[in-house]
Amino acid sequence: SVVIEDLRKEFDDVTAVDGLSLEIEAEEFLTLLGPSGCGKSTTLRLISGLETATSGTIKINGEDVTDIPANKRNTSMVFQEWALFPHMTVQENIAFGLEMRDVPKAEREERIEHALELIELPGYQDRKVSQLSGGQKQRIAMARSIVLEPDVLLFDEPLSSLDRSLRQTMQIELKNMQEELGITFIYVTHDQEEALTMSNRVAVMNDGHLEQVGETYELYEHPQSEFVANFVGETN
Ligand code: ATP
Ligand code: MG
Repeated sequence: SVVIEDLRKEFDDVTAVDGLSLEIEAEEFLTLLGPSGCGKSTTLRLISGLETATSGTIKINGEDVTDIPANKRNTSMVFQEWALFPHMTVQENIAFGLEMRDVPKAEREERIEHALELIELPGYQDRKVSQLSGGQKQRIAMARSIVLEPDVLLFDEPLSSLDRSLRQTMQIELKNMQEELGITFIYVTHDQEEALTMSNRVAVMNDGHLEQVGETYELYEHPQSEFVANFVGETN
């Protein structure tokens, strides 16, 4: 589980996260939805340890990780822009994080083989990343996170650069993958439709705080604020 209590993050003159409290159960798929600039990426970066909180606490599986560095937290992040090394092979890209964690070679190869099967690109080890399609690159970025076997996988708008039909395919694949892996997924998007189709529970964020957390139908039928009513009701 991930338990966040009264989390704040201030950058010089901006309060990016402003007293956010949220509980995400183990193996849950939670979507964090909100407009541009509301603090979604900062929240993920705080959970993963890429940013340090100004105040508040973050617990992962009962352990207070607020002051623990990123590489000692069992989380992994999938970025919007994928952050792959284009001139390296699929194998080299995925192995990178495992080498950093001193996973032995034989185990690295085994984990990579399994991850490539999971994302339905078996045998792609020796392909150059620069020669893959956008959707394939995005799946490789996911495989790179999956092989680390994290307790929590964090997704920062991972599908936003894909075209509509590929995005819909990947949404379904991600949902299936989450069920298969049994990992906690925290999935950030500013797309209402995507949030409502991806997961059962959605946390709506506005200006650094949470407006409402609830099941999809609750947000539609019982919005607790005008912001939620307007934002969830909108379609792109
Ligand atoms: P988007 O949907 O556009 O990605 P977001 O919800 O992810 O937006 P954040 O990136 O978390 O928003 O930013 C929240 C606020 O914090 C914004 O006002 C942003 O300008 C500010 N901010 C984020 N990172 C920094 C930083 N490193 N230094 C200063 N301000 C920052
Ligand atoms: Mg962002």
